[in-house]
Amino acid sequence: MENIIRVTVWNEYRHERDGEAKEFYPNGIQETIREFLAVNKDMKITTAVLDDPEQGLPDTLLENTDVLIWWGHMHHQEVNDALVEKIRERVYCGGMGFIGLHSAHHSKPFRAIVGCTGNLKWGDNQKEVIWNLAPSHPIAQGVPESFELESEELYSEPFFIPQPDELVFGSWYEHGNIFRSGCTFYRGMGRVFYFQPGHEVCRSFYNPHCQQIITNAVRWARPHMDTDVVNACPYTGKGFYNE
Ligand code: ZN
Repeated sequence: MENIIRVTVWNEYRHERDGEAKEFYPNGIQETIREFLAVNKDMKITTAVLDDPEQGLPDTLLENTDVLIWWGHMHHQEVNDALVEKIRERVYCGGMGFIGLHSAHHSKPFRAIVGCTGNLKWGDNQKEVIWNLAPSHPIAQGVPESFELESEELYSEPFFIPQPDELVFGSWYEHGNIFRSGCTFYRGMGRVFYFQPGHEVCRSFYNPHCQQIITNAVRWARPHMDTDVVNACPYTGKGFYNE
């Protein structure tokens, strides 16, 4: 699997069209993520937004996506259930990677893939310190022992997710709260990473450490498939692999 990683960055893209978020991400969060990923020669980046035809993810794009990055917030309910099922199936049976950013903890795909409510406690923007809990993990490469985000939305425990398969980052907030801010989950043939920073009126997607983590996560989450093993999924009838 030495070929190019086909990354699709999906964003709700409603906040950044007007109001305060536009000052932080004038072309949308998806464009900021595309820009920092695009410097990597091993990645081909496509962006998609909720208001695009077929909610940005026609079958032809989804079936040609190796890693799907998801940012959504106020309009999770508008995402079609049939599309969510296709995404879940592509992770479970196609080995597609899924990276949920920030408020994607409440997105339909994250909840469906991981199997949880994703509920958590939240509060005002404040200083966040992210601790590298697993320095040898591929997603933590190049990330220091800890780094600070001057202002990020408080996400706090309890965070109602299954115990993560790997806890890569943990956060401390100025008011004393803690949060499991970088978690991996292995689901079916696919890999999932959840990463907390990325509130629409904070600058976290410009932070070089956050950019490094998301870049690492794309490479980690790409399909890892042993092509000697081919089975048909009893639910979809499809092979486990993209045919
Ligand atoms: Zn937020």
